[in-house]
Amino acid sequence: MSAAPRPPILSDLLSRGVENLARGTTRGRCIFCGRQTGEGLPPKLGSKFTGGEFLQGGSCICPMCWFVYKTQRFRQSMWVASLAGTRFFKHGDARAILLDPPDPPFAIYLTRTWKKQGWLLLMNRVNLDRDRFLVAEDERLIAVSRADLRLKSELADGMLRQGLTKTTLLEGRLSAYQFTRLRDPRTAERLLAEVRGDPVWELAVWYSPMKRGKLPKKRIQGE
Ligand SMILES: [Zn+2]
Repeated sequence: MSAAPRPPILSDLLSRGVENLARGTTRGRCIFCGRQTGEGLPPKLGSKFTGGEFLQGGSCICPMCWFVYKTQRFRQSMWVASLAGTRFFKHGDARAILLDPPDPPFAIYLTRTWKKQGWLLLMNRVNLDRDRFLVAEDERLIAVSRADLRLKSELADGMLRQGLTKTTLLEGRLSAYQFTRLRDPRTAERLLAEVRGDPVWELAVWYSPMKRGKLPKKRIQGE
């Protein structure tokens, strides 16, 4: 039996092909990826650094992690990284990327805050499977089954098309107004109760590119 393939370390994937990585002279363990290096840079983190709780014990920063740490775009953007390279993308493209990720190994980072050091969570969690994978959204990790996300995306889009808001879908409660206007409010409420708090549902709703429809003026007969 052959050993399972090991995914690359995220900072290696993100710094792949980058020439002239900054290299230090400190010998020790990298606080970001946990590996030993002889080319460590001083582990001085800016006062605005927010990822303290995700650090590994260590004494320096390796050249690959230094590159990621110093490149602001990795925390101020959404991105998908694979052997084909790193692509930065906008909110409206997130759904399509989640439903059709690149060939493994790959990593996907999403953000709502545009400033957290959430890439740290993906350091040792580069994905090897396109159907079941982890995504980081700011400082939380979400386990995604692609089939499940597709199903929930269709459900979310359908509800948005009917005129419900993203807030309603995320909070899981219809307002009195929505209740009186929707064709089948009880089914909508039952469905929302089932998915409430589910992180994959939250991805399906938050990153839906669907434009919201209008609620009917009057309830349609035959509920
Ligand atoms: Zn490192």
